[in-house]
Amino acid sequence: MSEQLSGDGSKSVRVRYAPSPTGYPHVGNIRTALFNWLFARHTGGNFVIRIEDTDVERRVAGAVEDILESLRWMGMAWDEGPCVDGDFGPYTQSERLHLYQPLADQLVREDYAYPCFCSAQRLEEMRAEQVRLNQPTGYDRRCRDLTEQERARCRAEGIDPVIRFKVPRAGRTQFRDLIRGKVTFENSLLDDFVLLKSDGFPTYHLANVIDDHFMQISHVLRADEWMASTPRHIMLYNALKYEPPLFAHLPMILGPDKSKLSKRHGATSLLEFREEGYLAEAMMNFLALLGWSLDDRTEIIDRQTLIKSFSLERIGKTAAIFNIDKLRWMNGVYIRALSLEELTDKAIPFLEKHLPSHITRPLDRDYVRKVVALEQDRMKTLKELPELARFFFEAEVAAPLDLLANTGVPDQKAVEAFEVSLDVISGMEPFDHDSLETRFRALATELSLKTKDLFGLLRIAITGGTSAPPLFDTMALLGKDQCIRRIQKALVLLRCA
Ligand code: GLU
Repeated sequence: MSEQLSGDGSKSVRVRYAPSPTGYPHVGNIRTALFNWLFARHTGGNFVIRIEDTDVERRVAGAVEDILESLRWMGMAWDEGPCVDGDFGPYTQSERLHLYQPLADQLVREDYAYPCFCSAQRLEEMRAEQVRLNQPTGYDRRCRDLTEQERARCRAEGIDPVIRFKVPRAGRTQFRDLIRGKVTFENSLLDDFVLLKSDGFPTYHLANVIDDHFMQISHVLRADEWMASTPRHIMLYNALKYEPPLFAHLPMILGPDKSKLSKRHGATSLLEFREEGYLAEAMMNFLALLGWSLDDRTEIIDRQTLIKSFSLERIGKTAAIFNIDKLRWMNGVYIRALSLEELTDKAIPFLEKHLPSHITRPLDRDYVRKVVALEQDRMKTLKELPELARFFFEAEVAAPLDLLANTGVPDQKAVEAFEVSLDVISGMEPFDHDSLETRFRALATELSLKTKDLFGLLRIAITGGTSAPPLFDTMALLGKDQCIRRIQKALVLLRCA
């Protein structure tokens, strides 16, 4: 029985995020990166990025760039890793291949591992038979006790073996997880897993353990799904006579319906959230709360406070729930906290990209700033802005007749209201919020209309919709001519109805 209990805590913290470039990083991956980063920053330790790209068939072109870009966007700088030299590089496993084979050979020499010559076809048949008999699947250890002569014969036949670890048939492997406490696995339930493939590439297990050792990783913070690999890793650490790092398996992330998190729940690759107009600061706050909490109450926690307060003790054991509505709400909070200049800078690219193409570019920054000031409280994402604020940029706005005709104000009365409004507006000087408000409140009384009804009609005529920023600010920003044009258009529409 091997056992690893928590260390003395005095070693300097070195943590790593070790993504496999088999796809674009999603929220779960970046949550893992974030917890490692926060732990490093909190403790003054080092945050290392290691690319685990030994599964050649599953490599996805562009995935490494996407991973690094995701981290950069979130402002999670790494101390060592791709593009950042350190004492333990290279930080990409495919550039470290020379390290793994000699150690696999050493394990064979010391009888912790053995070459396995079974063909892919045999393994498949064995598996099918195990499934048919309702038995646990796993390697049946046929090559475990081959004699030297038998091994030599297979080699002479030109069969390149894989190297398998000799898992003890009995006993238990235990370790102390910093989140879960003592974890025990029955060795008999683990099969003799592969360390080195026949092409000389290491498997995840071998490369991960060797690299964590040589990179002097002190704590392994990784997703819960890797828990089942940890007893294998503990066995490997023991066989290689390395001191294992401390382990902390982070709680799963589920959708609100408690099922596995997927696109259906709004969880997409991290950079898609950027495309959708989420702020990196909001994303960081949101991801930090997927499994960690400050005090079970506080929701809005800025980056500095996260760094200051982060601790492994406050990581929960139960699954975290990914709720896109909460993220939208949080993003709105962060948007409202931005200065007008900051928000304008962030908004311009979204407006440039998503406003209809007939609207002239480049947009006038000063005008955009004024629009943003009126929309800041209404938007939850930057990408919503072009749709919300489109009427500020359009030369023409077509107020839908069904809206105009369904305000509860009779058509005749609405026509009269627009006619009088046009007169009022034409003669108005100055054309600003306060003058507009005073004059139109009085006008409602003069027309025997409720202010709500008069303002509602004007809002539809001027913005084309029923929800918009405060009416008189909107009118003042659009200017007298635009307001006249839009009301005239609505008037024509109503008259013809
Ligand atoms: N390469 C693994 C992954 O893609 C790393 C697991 C670990 O952190 O050990 O998540």
